[in-house]
Amino acid sequence: MARCSVCGAPAIAYVPYQRRYYCPEHYAEFVEGKVERTIEKYKMIREGDRVVAAVSGGKDSATLLSTLSRLRGKLGFELYAFHIDLGIGDYSVESRKAAVELARRLRVPLVVFSLWEELGYGVPEAAVRLRRPACSVCGIFKRYLYNAVGVELGAKVATGHNADDLAAYSLKNFLFQELEAIGKLGPVQEGVPGLAATRIRPLYTVYEKESFLYTVARGLPFLHRECPHARLDSLDFKLKEMLNRLEEERPSLKLGLLSRLAKRAKDYPRPKESYARCESCGLLSSSGKCSFCRLTERLSGEPLGGWVRKRIRELFSGVTGQPSSCTWGGTSG
Ligand code: SF4
Ligand code: ZN
Ligand code: ZN
Repeated sequence: MARCSVCGAPAIAYVPYQRRYYCPEHYAEFVEGKVERTIEKYKMIREGDRVVAAVSGGKDSATLLSTLSRLRGKLGFELYAFHIDLGIGDYSVESRKAAVELARRLRVPLVVFSLWEELGYGVPEAAVRLRRPACSVCGIFKRYLYNAVGVELGAKVATGHNADDLAAYSLKNFLFQELEAIGKLGPVQEGVPGLAATRIRPLYTVYEKESFLYTVARGLPFLHRECPHARLDSLDFKLKEMLNRLEEERPSLKLGLLSRLAKRAKDYPRPKESYARCESCGLLSSSGKCSFCRLTERLSGEPLGGWVRKRIRELFSGVTGQPSSCTWGGTSG
């Protein structure tokens, strides 16, 4: 049996690019150390920052929230968790349960925004009524809500994208020559005060497999199943598989790509349109109304961005102790 390279206890994992074995405790410390170094290297979080972690209930968001919760005292930042109940049948019921249990165990204040309870429809109903793919509708809901939370709280939004996700997205965007999209895949996406929250990706150097083993090593609750709308025949999934095969031959290939991308992200073209406000809700929009306001206008008869921003303030006032009428505004980065 392989033994931990640090303490000699039975190992649960081998890290090929280090040629080291780890027991559960030292493996968890290895991943936590990686996240801390990534946060420091890319100056993701400063003392006094407010950070909201997007928690889906899956393994990556469990790794994200656990590692951030262990660092909040040392680095001196406030940490909150935000979960969107997408209304996707049992999958969303179980995801919400996992997110609630995770936040409870890690003692991180959590706010849940349920699409059904707040808007009267979930992703599947909205997709059918709009005749659009579920993932495209879901993406608009998620992007808007995360951004609105960041702007309303004056917080940075931390997402659980791992190294495998980001390497596959960057390759896909290269294949389609979506160069502006590649420029947004770095470890930090700077916000625009009052319009768009700063986004950070603390798992930038953590592989998907490492995220999974971390949740096992720390015994964290997370949902083991995929969303029923996830497609295993998608190009993203195939690119991930292809990169995994290459990585077996060349350990740390993906980390090398992401390290170079982090250095070059600013050299990629930026969107040509100037930053504009949605005429309805006041958040970032490339045209008159933002996608969320246009989408909710078709579903509810009126654009709901402004109402959602107010609702988010109300929901968070219960956990931050700030009055719900107060808009902190801007971004803290
Ligand atoms: Fe949303 Fe699609 Fe992901 Fe399901 S697979 S959570 S519908 S983006
Ligand atoms: Zn050990
Ligand atoms: Zn809007």
